Amino acid sequence: MVRCENVHKSYQLGDRRVEALRGLDLTIDRPGFYAVMGASGSGKSTLLHLLAALDAPDEGTIEISGTKLESLGEREADAFRARSIGIVFQQFNLLPTMTARENVELPGVLQGEDPHTLRDRAAQLLERLGVGERAEHRPQALSGGEQQRVAIARALLFQPKLILADEPTGALDSASSARLWALLRDVADEEGVTIVMVTHEPTAAAHCSRIFVISDGRVTGEIAPEHQQEQLDAASVAARYQRVVGTA
Ligand code: ADP
Ligand code: MG
Repeated sequence: MVRCENVHKSYQLGDRRVEALRGLDLTIDRPGFYAVMGASGSGKSTLLHLLAALDAPDEGTIEISGTKLESLGEREADAFRARSIGIVFQQFNLLPTMTARENVELPGVLQGEDPHTLRDRAAQLLERLGVGERAEHRPQALSGGEQQRVAIARALLFQPKLILADEPTGALDSASSARLWALLRDVADEEGVTIVMVTHEPTAAAHCSRIFVISDGRVTGEIAPEHQQEQLDAASVAARYQRVVGTA
């Protein structure tokens, strides 16, 4: 599904070079709801950018569903991003002048898809995500949690194999966040899609079936239930995270 090998990425910041990723390895070999958890500045957003083919690594390889990203030209990368990956941001990124339904349809309109098919698919997705009744409302009339559901519906439009979510509940209250994590988990389970969620919060990561701990630009450990019946909880994730990063 997702394979990163020895990925390096640095940025030039004035006369300083910031090494955001320093030999990151990461493998996801089956669909599910995964977290990448790390402190601010550890390289999480950089990793998502590279997975979305928005930027290329300086070194190393990234492969998604059998496609080596470095093999794609710019236009192929654009097409790959549009159709094979769904992206969900902290700030929802919905267009304020469009209704929820039009926002969901938009990526399809841009790709020249049939309007009737898009309309049906958007309605179906909004229903699936529990905001079917909000379809004809503009974002400003929706709560934060509802806006994020619309954004997830949009991300699912082309039935991508991979959804990338960067701190998707960062702008939500705790009750809406909890509902959203449960929903993401259901979507991953039921739609056979892989969701990679970046977060710094143990409460968020605890909803995932596996957590990759990232620190200083590398995956330095993994947290997963020790047996099938175990459900991770925030306290055990926080404790195990501290052990992995070695600050306990
Ligand atoms: P996180 O999402 O975990 O907070 P980031 O991937 O955003 O971490 O950043 C990792 C490091 O790279 C940080 O030190 C950050 O300041 C730096 N960085 C990220 N993007 C840029 C950029 N476009 N230009 C310069 N430095 C950057
Ligand atoms: Mg970030």
